[in-house]
Amino acid sequence: MSGSSYEDDEIGIICPACEYEIRKSIGWIRKHTQIECPGCGQRIDIESRNFRMPGRTGGNGDPSR
Ligand SMILES: [Zn+2]
Repeated sequence: MSGSSYEDDEIGIICPACEYEIRKSIGWIRKHTQIECPGCGQRIDIESRNFRMPGRTGGNGDPSR
């Protein structure tokens, strides 16, 4: 594993309440478990997959359903 891969990539977290898209780097997200929506003030649980990953559609996902 070589260090800096996608730590600096920004992803959009969609607020489930107001659909505001909050952009944070992956490095930031790894250190936090919740984010406060600047649009409505709601706390969003980052691990509950409100993620939108940057153009990575591919064979490498795990189909967990
Ligand atoms: Zn919101």
